[in-house]
Amino acid sequence: MSNRIAIIGGGITGLTLAYRLSPRNKVTVFEKEKVLGGLAISFKKENWQWPLENFYHHLFTNDKELLKLLKDLKINYFFSRPKTSIYQKGQIYQFDSAISLLTYPHLNLYQKLRAGTAIAILKTLPNEKLLREKLAVHILPQLMGDKAYQVLWEPLLCGKFGQQMNQISAGWIWARIKKRSQKLGYIKNGYQYLIDRLTAEIKKNKGQIKVNYPIKNLNQLKNFSKIIVTTSPPIFLKIAPALPQKYKNQLASIKMLAALNLILVTKKPLLTDNTYWLNISDRNFPFVALVQHTNFINPHFYNGNHILYIGGYYPQNHPYLKMNKESLLKKFLPYLKKINHHFQQSAIINYQLSKSLYAQPIVTPHYQKTIPSYQTPIDNVYLVCMEQIYPWDRGINYTIKTVNKLANLFA
Ligand SMILES: Cc1cc2nc3c(=O)[nH]c(=O)nc-3n(C[C@H](O)[C@H](O)[C@H](O)COP(=O)(O)OP(=O)(O)OC[C@H]3O[C@@H](n4cnc5c(N)ncnc54)[C@H](O)[C@@H]3O)c2cc1C
Repeated sequence: MSNRIAIIGGGITGLTLAYRLSPRNKVTVFEKEKVLGGLAISFKKENWQWPLENFYHHLFTNDKELLKLLKDLKINYFFSRPKTSIYQKGQIYQFDSAISLLTYPHLNLYQKLRAGTAIAILKTLPNEKLLREKLAVHILPQLMGDKAYQVLWEPLLCGKFGQQMNQISAGWIWARIKKRSQKLGYIKNGYQYLIDRLTAEIKKNKGQIKVNYPIKNLNQLKNFSKIIVTTSPPIFLKIAPALPQKYKNQLASIKMLAALNLILVTKKPLLTDNTYWLNISDRNFPFVALVQHTNFINPHFYNGNHILYIGGYYPQNHPYLKMNKESLLKKFLPYLKKINHHFQQSAIINYQLSKSLYAQPIVTPHYQKTIPSYQTPIDNVYLVCMEQIYPWDRGINYTIKTVNKLANLFA
C-alpha cells in the first residue's frame, strides 16, 4: 500500500476516486450525509422497483468516460429518444429536431433557417476558444438574429441565470449545444446502482467509507499522507483555514447558483403529449424546466405512478430556498395548471423537495482564469470538483474524466 489517502465527499467524484485508487492505496472516504451520492443521491418508495434521483439525471451518447465506467462495472444502461419541447405563449411545441424548428410558428422561414444555421455552426466548432471571452447575450443575437434570440434563447437564459444572464460566457452556450445529444440514456435500476457498485468495489479493495462524518477541519486528517477534497470550493475554504489569502480570493471568485427540484408523484402525467423535457420559455414562471421522468422511463418501475420534476436555478440567497415543500407547491401549482388546465392537486400522491446551494457554476468570460488546479497551496492536499470541468458544463462524465487524470498522477 503506497499512500494513506483521505477523500472528503462521497458523491460520484469521491466514490470514483476511491474506486480508482483503492487497489493500490489505503483509502478512506468521509461523507457528511448519512447516505452516499451527493448531487446524484436517490430515494426509493417501498412499492417502487427502482430508486429515483433527487435531481433529474440522464446520460448523453457522448458521455464516453461515464459509459466506459458503466461497462467496467458491468452496469446496464439504455438509450432512447425522448421528446423535448418548449412552453411558450401558453402552448407546448416539440423542439428537438430540424423538422420541429421548421414547424415552429413564432418565426418566419428566414429566421428559422438562420437560427438552425447558428446551432449547426456552434455544434461544428471544435472548441470554445473563439467564444469564451465573449458574452452569450452579445454573440447569440449576432449569430441567430435578434428575433430568434428573443423568442428562443433569451427567456431560457433569463429563467436559469436571472439578472446574471448578462454575465454568461458564450463558451458556456457552446458547451451546452455541443454536448446535447438527441438520444438520452438512463442506468438500469437508476443512478443509485452506480453508487452501490462503486461502494461494493471500494469495500472489496479494503477501502473504508465513513458516512455521517463531516470533516470540519483538515487537521482532523493528520494521519493521512494525502487528502483529496471533492466538495464545492466554498466548503473547502471553510475546512482549510490555513489556505493562503490569494488562493482563497481565487476560489471565492467562482460564483454558483443553487438548484431546487420539487418532485411530484402523481396518478397521471402532467405532460400528456409524451414530452420528457419541457423548457419553460416564459420569464414569469417561477421555474425553468419540467421533467416528466416517466415519459422517458416506464412508470412500471414506480408502481405505475408518474414522476414530475419541477426544476429551477436560483441565486443562493433566493427566498424559495428557505421555503418548505408545501409553500413551494402552493407557489408552483397555478403555473402547472397553465400548462395542463386539467391538472388537480388531488392527482398528487406525494411530493418531496431537493435543494443544493452548489449546483451550477456561473461561467463568465474570465471564468477559465479562476479555475483552481488539482494541487492546492497546501502540500499533499488536492481539490477535484465540478467547477474544474470547464469548458464543459457540470456533468458526471467530466467528473470522471477529471478523476481519471488525478488517479493517473497518483499512479
Ligand atoms: C439539477 C441537477 C441536474 C443534473 N443532471 C445531470 C445529468 O443529467 N447528467 C449528469 O451527468 N450530471 C448531472 N448533474 C451533475 C451531477 O449531479 C454532478 O456533476 C455530480 O453528481 C457531482 O458529483 P461530485 O461528487 O463532484 O459533487 P457532489 O455530488 O456535490 O459531492 C460532494 C459530496 O461532498 C459531501 N460533503 C460536503 N461537505 C463535506 C464535509 N465537510 N465533509 C464530508 N463530506 C462533505 C457532500 O455531502 C456530497 O456528498 C446534475 C446536477 C444537478 C444539480
